[in-house]
Amino acid sequence: MKSFSSLTLTLLLLGISGCGGNTETTATPAPTAETPSEATLTALKKADLLDGSEDHVIKKCYVCSLAMDGEEKYSAELHGYQAHLCSDHCREKFEASPETVIAGVEVPD
Ligand SMILES: [Zn+2]
Repeated sequence: MKSFSSLTLTLLLLGISGCGGNTETTATPAPTAETPSEATLTALKKADLLDGSEDHVIKKCYVCSLAMDGEEKYSAELHGYQAHLCSDHCREKFEASPETVIAGVEVPD
């Protein structure tokens, strides 16, 4: 008799904690860092147009303030754009923090 009642109590407690856990886990998904800012997209579009065509390929090295010619073998993908960098070093820097690189470069008109 004694063991039966404690088993019932255990099952009851498990049921309660299980229910509580379920409601806790249905939280809103964490925001992603992948969403580009409006300023970043505007800068990318402007940089894309520097070579005269809106082809989503940025042919100047963004890390070198768009003053150096980039190469296709050092390219990086970002928000649907392909950015050509001038060296492996520049590509690494761009891929590590693209938003920071873009924010620090004034795209010439
Ligand atoms: Zn560069």
